[in-house]
Amino acid sequence: MRDHKKYYQEHKASINETNKRSYEKNKDKIAKRRLEYKLENQEKLKLRSREYYLKNKEKIDEQNRKWHRENKDKYYETAKRWRENNKERYRAKMRAASKIWSANNKDKIITNRQRTRNKLREDVLAAYGNKCKCCGESTKEFLCIDHINNDGAKHKRENNIKSAQAMYTWLRKNNYPKDGFQILCHNCNCAKGFYGECPHQKLKIAI
Ligand SMILES: [Zn+2]
Ligand SMILES: [Zn+2]
Repeated sequence: MRDHKKYYQEHKASINETNKRSYEKNKDKIAKRRLEYKLENQEKLKLRSREYYLKNKEKIDEQNRKWHRENKDKYYETAKRWRENNKERYRAKMRAASKIWSANNKDKIITNRQRTRNKLREDVLAAYGNKCKCCGESTKEFLCIDHINNDGAKHKRENNIKSAQAMYTWLRKNNYPKDGFQILCHNCNCAKGFYGECPHQKLKIAI
């Protein structure tokens, strides 16, 4: 072994020169053979590189981090250029990544969606006073938005509102119009819907 090393050291220049010449001469052939080997052994090579990575994880990660620290600008510049030159591929890649993320974070997505939904409803209720205009009920779960002039169906149709959520979104988008909208509790709202007026109102007049 040492002899080989010694021999190499002594004849370094000429050996390198010979190798280089031979490589130059067979460049295409070598490249072709390498590519063929790669294609034929894709799985094996992938596995081997994965194994190598796992075995040397800390060292490789540290190397990568170090490279990234030292070449940040270069990295972002290259990445940006790649994105610009491969718009379709980039989009497909992002779509795939977001699909995987969604599949792995279903609970998070549901919680976030619920949080957004609750926040929207809370904002709307707050904008209209947080209590039933008729009886004063303030338990949020009992409250809803009432179309004062009973033109809810028309309003919803004209604005393509198909759910309570969509109704809240519409109200927020239109800066919570006070004209025509108020909060009622479900009791007062149903009574108004069925009988044209909530019995509370008759009581109030009687008193
Ligand atoms: Zn009420
Ligand atoms: Zn009432």
